[in-house]
Amino acid sequence: MTYYLKYRPQTIEEIDITSVRVSLTNILKSGNIPHAFLFAGPKGTGKTSLARILAKTINCENNNKVTPCGACEQCISITSGTNIDVIEMDAASNRGIDDVRALRDIVKLAPANAKAKVYIIDEAHMLTTEASNALLKTLEEPPAHVYFILATTNPEKLIDTIKSRTTFISFTKATDEEILRSLKRVIKGEKIKITNDNLNKIVKISKGSFRDAVKYLEQYSHDKSFLIKDLEIDVEAFVENLIKKDIKSILTDVKKSKNIESLTDQIVDILHKKLVNSHATELIPLIELILESSEMTKVSPIEELPLEIAILKWCV
Ligand SMILES: [Zn+2]
Repeated sequence: MTYYLKYRPQTIEEIDITSVRVSLTNILKSGNIPHAFLFAGPKGTGKTSLARILAKTINCENNNKVTPCGACEQCISITSGTNIDVIEMDAASNRGIDDVRALRDIVKLAPANAKAKVYIIDEAHMLTTEASNALLKTLEEPPAHVYFILATTNPEKLIDTIKSRTTFISFTKATDEEILRSLKRVIKGEKIKITNDNLNKIVKISKGSFRDAVKYLEQYSHDKSFLIKDLEIDVEAFVENLIKKDIKSILTDVKKSKNIESLTDQIVDILHKKLVNSHATELIPLIELILESSEMTKVSPIEELPLEIAILKWCV
């Protein structure tokens, strides 16, 4: 199991996005849990993780109303995805849409084992108009034993009547502090030794993605030189040399790199800023070459070759 899956937040306290953690805590402390939520935000920000935590909090047998125990039968089966009263549907697939159509009848039935049924509808903006209207009818008068959690990356595509009947929770890209918080949980759990300097470097290159941050940390924990060699390349200077067409120093740096994908991402990031901030249109051909190489890197048997070709095409 990857660290990302192993260290997925399991309690409200482990939710790393502060605004989300605070909103949810306040709602749960009030003792009045709304029957329909809308979780909106970019991919990888933890919407599904939180939906499961909420389902556990509602159904936990040792419920203290604020966070799930994680140890009872309900909590364990929800974590493993085998709880028959917690139904996860993907609106992007036909199955999800058909299920929503039948929902009005199904929701009337009492839960099998749990206190309440929880429907988690992922990519809710993909529901057809027909399915949305069927869902709306249920949201208007949800039975006491039913909760809905809608998750979406595109809330603006949902019909307004659904938005107005759900409690909106906004998931934003993580800040550096929030990334650091999630990494510290992994570091503690795996007893990883890492300097603050290297930790901050990982935070910086993961650019607000919990998934990427934990992935980089995992690579680092398996091979201390893996990321560090890459992180030791001064990418700002690398890009300056690239613009100056200093082939020798650039190719030496590429050779040092142990993570071409991450290096390419950082190069594109810097070039993008230059393009937007100083309208450096002369860099467009270079950006195109690097982007092209980035695609090729994924399939090339020699990871650094596409980037080297791009550099040579630009310089020569
Ligand atoms: Zn429990």
